[in-house]
Amino acid sequence: MNIRPNEITSIIKQQIENYDIKIKNEEVGQIIQIGDGIARVYGLDNCMYGELVEFSNGTLGMALNLEEDNVGCILLGSESGIHEGDIVKRTGRKADVPVGEALIGRVVNALGQPIDGKGTIQANATRPIEFEAAGVVDRKSVSVPLQTGIMAIDAMFPIGRGQRELIIGDRQTGKTSIAIDTIINQKDKDVICVYVAIGQKASSLAKLVSTLEQHGAMNYTIIVSATASELAPLQYIAPYAGCAMAEYFMYKGKDTLIVYDDLSKHAVAYRAMSLLLRRPPGREAYPGDVFYLHSRLLERSARLSEELGGGSMTALPIIETLAGDVSAYIPTNVISITDGQIYLENELFFAGIRPAVNVGLSVSRVGGAAQTKAMKKVSGRLRLDLAQYRELEVFTQFSSELDKATQEMLDQGERIVETLKQPLYHPIPMHHQVIIIFAVTNKYLWDIPIEKVKDFESKLVTFIDTQYSQISEAINSTKELDDKNVEMLKSAIEEFKKQYMDEIGG
Ligand code: ATP
Ligand code: MG
Repeated sequence: MNIRPNEITSIIKQQIENYDIKIKNEEVGQIIQIGDGIARVYGLDNCMYGELVEFSNGTLGMALNLEEDNVGCILLGSESGIHEGDIVKRTGRKADVPVGEALIGRVVNALGQPIDGKGTIQANATRPIEFEAAGVVDRKSVSVPLQTGIMAIDAMFPIGRGQRELIIGDRQTGKTSIAIDTIINQKDKDVICVYVAIGQKASSLAKLVSTLEQHGAMNYTIIVSATASELAPLQYIAPYAGCAMAEYFMYKGKDTLIVYDDLSKHAVAYRAMSLLLRRPPGREAYPGDVFYLHSRLLERSARLSEELGGGSMTALPIIETLAGDVSAYIPTNVISITDGQIYLENELFFAGIRPAVNVGLSVSRVGGAAQTKAMKKVSGRLRLDLAQYRELEVFTQFSSELDKATQEMLDQGERIVETLKQPLYHPIPMHHQVIIIFAVTNKYLWDIPIEKVKDFESKLVTFIDTQYSQISEAINSTKELDDKNVEMLKSAIEEFKKQYMDEIGG
């Protein structure tokens, strides 16, 4: 055998030249205490606040308490198989979730992993769950309506794209229903919706998903779920994860809607976590930074300037009150952060007035700026009439003889209340709302029996859509109700009313 030293030396030289020293500098620590989804780790000296750490069984954690001699981490997964004394590695990155179009139509957990059994998600990007909110110059004022399809809200408390409107009320007063109706109403409106379920029963979530599927709303919706059985840390990060998913689309210039259902349970999960981390408790045992918990989340909703693409994120946070107490700690905090609230009331709900919107306590601080001209024109009287009616109602409860004017006002009020009732999953398009409210505020319904009000209205809009389609089209295209159309609408309603009265034999 012939040995060629030249060849061998050149190979050795080449190897030496290409030798790449790979020293992985992994900073590790040791667990000194673990339990209740919290681990205390010794030795992670340079760990960042909010950094992800990896445990021996592959579970990720997040460093939240940086103390003198140890780091308090929350576990974002199962703690089985993790023992005291185990090694914990720093990852050097902050928590993030997969984002992108691939998530649309899916149900994911707080870490963005699919839980709907429809296979893996091929996301094209990730985004940190915590992100600084857009600054003042990056924003534009809110001026485009986000229609909920619920007449009581669109007419009196309009919501604009980029606004944060709180839905607040006792348990079982229809809070979730308003959010779901709003999502269903975004069909064909090019709005991407994210629904974040925090601390809810898995069964209610399953029902909700099937409702959205039935109405074809999953085609543009992402559901992020951290149910009641999940660890407090996962419930804590769920809204931030959902927000990151919506933000991705917002910064791409799209309009998005996000529902946080609900932030009371989110605060409770955060309280549990903070107490386990031994942070000092404050009012109602919540930690001192519970305001910041929600303000930094809700500030991320915005309507971006043209330079940033003009996208928007509208937020509908939900808060549950106890016995209507809006002055408790968490409710007042969130009321002060949001741009208005829709207050749902037990009494109204049980009296069959659904959605149970309390007109006196609800507001939208963006108001008319987020309404179409047509809607603004017809809805001005509505709130006033309704408020007057509520006042009179209390006054006249016990008197039997009323003068004609008072009786008329009461009759009118009753008809408005009846008009604003709306069953579930029946969003009403804007032009129908305008026609109905026009009819009722102009007292065309005064002699229609109460139980026929709803029937009259639904037949009226069908009549106008078929016989006077130019009115509907004009409202839809110009978003205005000009004088010419007002006259036409009046005569159309009169014509229909004559026909209707004959029909019911009035
Ligand atoms: P929870 O406190 O349990 O979260 P919630 O306030 O979210 O309750 P929902 O679950 O939305 O309330 O609604 C409670 C019940 O009221 C449901 O059974 C729902 O079907 C009914 N409901 C809500 N809105 C309406 C409505 N507009 N018309 C008829 N029924 C309604
Ligand atoms: Mg609910």
